[in-house]
Amino acid sequence: MASDSPDRPNAQFYKDMFKNNGRPSTASPMWAKARANLMESAFVPYESTTQDTFPDEVALALRRLGDMKHPKYDCPVYLGVTPEMPDYSEVTKAVVPDAPTPLVSVIEDMVELLDGLPNSSHPLHQPNVLPNPNKAAIIANMLANYTSQNAIEGEYAWNLSKAEMETAAMITDFITPGWSKDTAGGMFTYGGSGCYLYGLKYALAHVVGSSRCEGVRVEGKVFCSQQGHYAKMNATDWLGIGMNNYVDIDCMDDTNTMDLEDLEQEFQAARDADPPVPVLAVMCTMGTTDAFAIDPVKGVRELVSKYPNPPGYNETIIYCDAVIGWSFLPFRDYDFVENPLQFCSAVVKKIEETYVQISDIQFADAVGIDFHKTGWAPYTTSMFLVRDLDNYKKLMSRPGSAYLQARTPYNPGLYTLEVSRSAAPALAAWSTLKYFGKQGIQSIVGGVLEISQCLRALIAEEESMVCVNDTDYGFVTLFRVYKEGVNANEQYEKERTVDSKEAKLQLYRNNQYQKKIADQMWAWFRNGEKIEGLYGPYTTYTSGFRTTDYNDNMGDQYGVIYALKSYPMNISVNPTTMENMIKAFKIARAKVDSDPFPDPPSKPIAQPYGDVEPPSCGPDDANSLKITSMLSGVPGVVKRKGKRGVANSDRKDSGSKKEGCSCKCECD
Ligand SMILES: *Cc1c(COP(=O)(O)O)cnc(C)c1O
Repeated sequence: MASDSPDRPNAQFYKDMFKNNGRPSTASPMWAKARANLMESAFVPYESTTQDTFPDEVALALRRLGDMKHPKYDCPVYLGVTPEMPDYSEVTKAVVPDAPTPLVSVIEDMVELLDGLPNSSHPLHQPNVLPNPNKAAIIANMLANYTSQNAIEGEYAWNLSKAEMETAAMITDFITPGWSKDTAGGMFTYGGSGCYLYGLKYALAHVVGSSRCEGVRVEGKVFCSQQGHYAKMNATDWLGIGMNNYVDIDCMDDTNTMDLEDLEQEFQAARDADPPVPVLAVMCTMGTTDAFAIDPVKGVRELVSKYPNPPGYNETIIYCDAVIGWSFLPFRDYDFVENPLQFCSAVVKKIEETYVQISDIQFADAVGIDFHKTGWAPYTTSMFLVRDLDNYKKLMSRPGSAYLQARTPYNPGLYTLEVSRSAAPALAAWSTLKYFGKQGIQSIVGGVLEISQCLRALIAEEESMVCVNDTDYGFVTLFRVYKEGVNANEQYEKERTVDSKEAKLQLYRNNQYQKKIADQMWAWFRNGEKIEGLYGPYTTYTSGFRTTDYNDNMGDQYGVIYALKSYPMNISVNPTTMENMIKAFKIARAKVDSDPFPDPPSKPIAQPYGDVEPPSCGPDDANSLKITSMLSGVPGVVKRKGKRGVANSDRKDSGSKKEGCSCKCECD
């Protein structure tokens, strides 16, 4: 048939190709037969039928994934049987196969890629804010993606768009009275960094209206606490604002929160610059990743009102990076006196103080929320929320496209960064909020704090270990482990305060000791070995948790304190888990003492592509920029007197002498 097919076939030609039941006939060309095979196996039927094999195929995939797990009492912290490092060396050889692959084989291949993946459902999985996703949210992802929903507009996402609008309303409920559910609105986007980008773009459009047509033609400043997330770099860089235009605001010694005095000085400096420069945004952080510092947004709002931008520029926008801290908002109605969930008094006090600080969020113009962080939802489930959606729309709307008509009144595609956009994240967040309810979120969030308290109590029982973020209100416990026999409290006090050559050397050695213990833990986790009945836990360390008290201005790159880290987001963590953690750290310590070089992971990781060094910007030398940007902090952090700020970069003609000597003089 293929050989005698006419040049431009008529309709009858195609009709002859298919039988009455829609199947290709024997004489049909190969493409029609191959396509028919795929149609029946590769796609779900459009009609209701008892022959639908898909539910079984999903069940098969889930069962195969289940096979990758291990029995409860003999369960390493990874899936599958290959603990070794992944081998990326062959990836560039990949090609598309010639013929289709049967579904079961594709499932096998997919499951193979999960082999060795850290098992986030395992209680000893505690490396970072990486919670295991809840069932409702996983199912939401699948259900949304079962269809071709597209959250670009109501016409394509239909009622799924409600998930976006209703999630915004449910969260706004916690931000009232400062915000109103009738005027606030939210858009799901690609992560907390995406929210940050949205926040800064909103600021740019609001403060410098001309920027949308003419581009960024002004040295507008972005203020962010020194402890704020490095998304400040991504956002200023990608928006063309320039990384030199974000200004790190000093943090308070005791709370790690934005120092309002320093913030005021920077506002003043922007005003005094010649010509005066607008402040685009103050990016507040509601819970930094490690120290869980919550910036004083009310005070920031007062400064924004006190320092209006120069004529021609609108008021500075306040953005709250609440990607981690938002999950304390559902404590809004919690009765901290009656304490119905019966948290211990230390924990309920922490929660209340945290909630009171977080509630300052109502002074923000826009907020970012990660459900994949403290909402136990899959990646990536993030919502950018604005207090005044109409203002946002007015500023950010673009003309629509000829191929899209507004069939429903909800058309976020006219003002989102994305064009096509999945409704799955919105559905996942919406389902999670319903599934957990306020009480569920309260018990999970409070539960992490209770369990962290348990770990802290266990650490306190160990003479040679010290918790170094005891005063923090967050989810993470940071601690240092010393050689057996060392009094950890005394040693740590010395390291923090004594500015002598000998003490510094000791600090350096003990930092290396933390690193070696962490490396030993990593090697243990990744070689799949069982020691004293335990598989290696998955934890990490931070190499820039805080500076020493005498190194406030970061002049000394060795004057920083490393810490081991436990981020017990997993809700199956219990006291036994934490006892095992302590035991594991002791085992790792003994290994370091007998052999300071951990067994390398059995296969060295091969680089599929080249390695590059990032360029550095600004007057700071690259090294100090790196350290300060990576500090994850607790009390006593950085006061960079000679820091890069409006004062240093823009007031070149005034006080240049002072600028020249800034860092050196202060350090000596
Ligand atoms: C994780 C994090 C971000 C970045 O969010 P992603 O969802 O990873 O893009 C921003 N700010 C803070 C405080 C964070 O912890």
